[in-house]
Amino acid sequence: MRSPIAIVDVDRPDGWTRWRAGLCASCAANCCTMPLEVRLPDLVRLGLVDAFEAEHVEPRVIAKRLQKARLIDHFNHKNTVFTMARRASGDCRFLDADTRQCTVYELRPETCRLHPQKKSPRPGYCAYGARVQQQR
Ligand code: SF4
Repeated sequence: MRSPIAIVDVDRPDGWTRWRAGLCASCAANCCTMPLEVRLPDLVRLGLVDAFEAEHVEPRVIAKRLQKARLIDHFNHKNTVFTMARRASGDCRFLDADTRQCTVYELRPETCRLHPQKKSPRPGYCAYGARVQQQR
């Protein structure tokens, strides 16, 4: 079943909202339905790769294991970037579907920490969608 939350059209950031402090409190977490690219340190922090493995095993071998476990969808070997697998709904695996809160907030990947001010298809803007307008 598709998430009741609208999937953000990442190809159309021209319709996004200028981000401001406090905006996230009423948002349906649309940014957490977008493809999430992470690096090895993120995966270690999240407990999906252990530090020894990260140091001693080839990233492409790690990627193969993560792909088999359906934890990632894609691995870009040129820049060692992993794209996390998402739920069938499109949500990030770490997003609580009901509260629309991140369940690993303290450990969240760098991409999430830098979005939307620095890491975004349109820096300073986000795919805000009010939670009340989009609930079932
Ligand atoms: S890790 Fe947390 S903040 Fe990042 S996309 Fe997933 S739910 Fe959102």
